[in-house]
Amino acid sequence: MTQITVFKAKKIITMDPNRRDATHVAVRDGKVLAVGGATCADQWGAVTHDETLAHATLMPGMVEGHAHMMAGAMWRYAYAGYHDRIDPQGKLWTGMTDIDAVVDGLTTYAQGLGPDDPLVGWGFDPIFLTSERLSAKHLDQISTDRPIAIIFSNFHLMCVNSKALEMAGYDGGTNAEGVIKGPDGAPTGELQEMAAMFPIMRRLGIDFRGLSQTPEAIADFAEVAQRAGVTTITDLFSSMEDDDLKVMLDITGRDTFPLRIVPVLGAMGEPVQIADRAETLAKSSTDKLRLGAVKLMTDGSIQGWTARVKWPHYVGGQPNGIWNTAPEQIYALCDEMQKRGIQMHIHVNGDEAAEVSIAAIEAALRNHPAPGHRHVLQHCQMMGRDQYQRAKELGCCTNIFANHIWYFGDQHVELTLGRDRAERMDAARTALDEGVPVALHSDAPVTPLGPLFTAWCAVNRQTMTGQTLGAAQCITVDEALYAITMGAAYTLKLDAEIGSIEAGKQADFAILGDDPTAVDPMALKDVPVLGTVHGGQVHLL
Ligand SMILES: [Zn+2]
Repeated sequence: MTQITVFKAKKIITMDPNRRDATHVAVRDGKVLAVGGATCADQWGAVTHDETLAHATLMPGMVEGHAHMMAGAMWRYAYAGYHDRIDPQGKLWTGMTDIDAVVDGLTTYAQGLGPDDPLVGWGFDPIFLTSERLSAKHLDQISTDRPIAIIFSNFHLMCVNSKALEMAGYDGGTNAEGVIKGPDGAPTGELQEMAAMFPIMRRLGIDFRGLSQTPEAIADFAEVAQRAGVTTITDLFSSMEDDDLKVMLDITGRDTFPLRIVPVLGAMGEPVQIADRAETLAKSSTDKLRLGAVKLMTDGSIQGWTARVKWPHYVGGQPNGIWNTAPEQIYALCDEMQKRGIQMHIHVNGDEAAEVSIAAIEAALRNHPAPGHRHVLQHCQMMGRDQYQRAKELGCCTNIFANHIWYFGDQHVELTLGRDRAERMDAARTALDEGVPVALHSDAPVTPLGPLFTAWCAVNRQTMTGQTLGAAQCITVDEALYAITMGAAYTLKLDAEIGSIEAGKQADFAILGDDPTAVDPMALKDVPVLGTVHGGQVHLL
């Protein structure tokens, strides 16, 4: 006879329409046994009442449908972002709001490095700076002997110093897409998208896979998640080699590890091989490590002007973006994955990338019709009504990058798309009205992990300068809370196991200091996260 624990809470928000709230939840074997009042589990035998959470509001453990494991590991590099940010240990890193601050901050940081270590920074974003663009000559002020690479916050661009350019063999004679040159014909130091960045990453030993798969990085990732009330999270471009799998199975298999992880295999290479690997990985799935889906990277990032955007393109007349995967390859990947019944998560920032991806899924479905694939369009930043309707027709899900409204909304008005298109970005209202399954995400570490903040963005659509960007696309608090729990669980095909508090599901809860449905919607982001319950185990912060 295993023990039954009945947790009492101030309020339990269940996401179960049959019983929208409750005061008690009974847990046995890590799962929800019953929900209701104090006597909800009495007919199951002897129970132990637990008052530890009596002061708190519980909701289903939040589900982050688009994040990256390096959200923990990136803190091993120097943070060079514009916004203040808190690391996994709770330390505040002050934002660097101009190039001088970046140069000064990184010069200080470099003093702590060994003589042969490269200096790697992350989180920088030139779009917030009104001065000239960061270039190799700025970074050369820090050092000309030590290679330096500053990865931008979108992870689609970087800037490097002359030493790093030299190591990668980039010079005036280089003719490669994404290696940006100045008026003098020499590389400026800015590199756009994967093909241009990989040679630098290889030579400087910047290894997102290695960074993400150490036990420390995984522990940091769990720490970041717990602080945000997240109990299930994705790693949405994983390499998942055999060694990685062993480490992940070991760590997630520990009883006290407080997180379910869904690593999604990055689709780089031959479609057949990728599908084979995804099928092999799927066989190792457990309750806490769910494998078998793949991630396609199509275009770049809107704020880096590398997203593929339909006419009339960018307001500044910038060239129209970069394909990380060529359209014909997107078609080939979609066809193979659909044929094999493998779920795809497809990165689409610009509306041209969404258009190509939707058409490729449509073609694949014509060749291999099958319901229930739940392919997920990820980011969906520029998708309009027509594209949401087609996504619905095809049985696709959408995971919307709501945090962009606050972080980059003003820049999208001024610098990338112009006001009219910026106001209909991340169109959660349209998506819900068209009946497409919707999740909301942070893309951590691109923006910080925090589903309540992400929900707040979708509800209020406030930008950093305090304007409401596209009031017509605001959604309600209830809709947003559903999107960060059940909505995201559905996109991961985990909706039978997590996402709501009801009998039979995993006992995964977020412990909150306030009721998110009762506070002013503008205060939703400030609702304190006190910890999580994971598989019935209480983890208070
Ligand atoms: Zn991402």
